[in-house]
Amino acid sequence: MSLIVQKYGGTSVGSVERIEAVADKIEQMYKDGHQLIVVVSAMSGETNRLIGLANDIDTMANPREMDVLLSTGEQVTIALLCIALHKRGIGAKSYTGSQIKILTDNSHGKARIREIDDFRVKEDLTSGHVVVVAGFQGADETGNITTLGRGGSDTTAVALAAALKADECQIYTDVDGVYTTDPRMVSEARRLNKITFEEMLEMASQGSKILQIRSVEFAGKYSVPLRVLSSFEEGPGTLIAIEEGNQMEKPLVSGIAFNKDEAKLTIRGIPDQPGVAYKVLGAISAANIEIDVIVQNVAKDNSATITFTVHKSSLPQAEALLNEIASDLGALEVDADNRIAKVSIVGVGMRSHAGVAATMFEALSTEGINIQLITTSEIKITVVIDERYLELAVRALHSAFELDKPDLNDH
Ligand code: ASP
Ligand code: MG
Repeated sequence: MSLIVQKYGGTSVGSVERIEAVADKIEQMYKDGHQLIVVVSAMSGETNRLIGLANDIDTMANPREMDVLLSTGEQVTIALLCIALHKRGIGAKSYTGSQIKILTDNSHGKARIREIDDFRVKEDLTSGHVVVVAGFQGADETGNITTLGRGGSDTTAVALAAALKADECQIYTDVDGVYTTDPRMVSEARRLNKITFEEMLEMASQGSKILQIRSVEFAGKYSVPLRVLSSFEEGPGTLIAIEEGNQMEKPLVSGIAFNKDEAKLTIRGIPDQPGVAYKVLGAISAANIEIDVIVQNVAKDNSATITFTVHKSSLPQAEALLNEIASDLGALEVDADNRIAKVSIVGVGMRSHAGVAATMFEALSTEGINIQLITTSEIKITVVIDERYLELAVRALHSAFELDKPDLNDH
């Protein structure tokens, strides 16, 4: 008998019919002899609807009250799911985050889980119940309801799986797994049977939005095997787990991630002196603007150029700040470009192979795509290009690394 934590997202519980279908799935697993903890999201669209209601009254609503409001979405689904399970003759009990004692800090709207009191859950499991928990919520030390940030139900599921040492944490969603790249862009994209936590984190932070990034970090930290599956069709999904076996046999590249959410800023003609990078980038960070790719270069005349990317929504503020910094430093010019795209190849196999970057650059060059910036990490190479060539670049890389072909390690 194994202990499985399952999480069903908003579309999977989006209507009464879908909740009944989820209950059928749980009934099957339960009859197969598994112990089950089920975490659910609010019905699809519900969290946005609640935010809309609050905004109609006040767009600056108190964060504590927002959490009281938003946590109701999940409370509806836990009760409906239990009602559906009872109808099938299965003993099930629903719990809100605060009832099950998911203790969080007190940052409303983005609370972090500190501790889970597993006593009640264990008791219910032992007595043969399916435990149904509201995702995305907890309570702080004084009992105030908190929420974990959008998409937070994934994190609830992983945290419960870690606390109870579950055999697997299964995330049921509207896609049937993690793909080599977005199948809406490349029809040859393939579902991966397995991917490491590190790769998944890179894919997620580069734009693949299947799982909340925090839930992947959490799962990696506690080595909770995570599986992404479709709630609408049968299939093995994608297992996200620790790296194992011989790296030499790993595919070089597991996936291609991309996004068009960033903009590029360049400051030219700054003095090449200690402290300039700090003056430029420190001021941007101090304004709470997140910086992603950073490249600095020094020309023969000893003037430096710094280029970096920020989220598109931060561009106006970052550009204004950079203009102020430029006049302080006596820089030559500042320019901004919001028509860029970022494309990354990701794979733990890169660690032990040379020449991966060359293959990437060759594929882009064959298509005549100009690379504006390059950055690398141990398991990722990222380029920034003109956004008009994004699709072409992703397709070219997908075939250059033969991601459309099943690899030896996929079983
Ligand atoms: N209902 C919350 C949201 O829409 C949490 C979740 O679905 O994971 O963000
Ligand atoms: Mg979600």
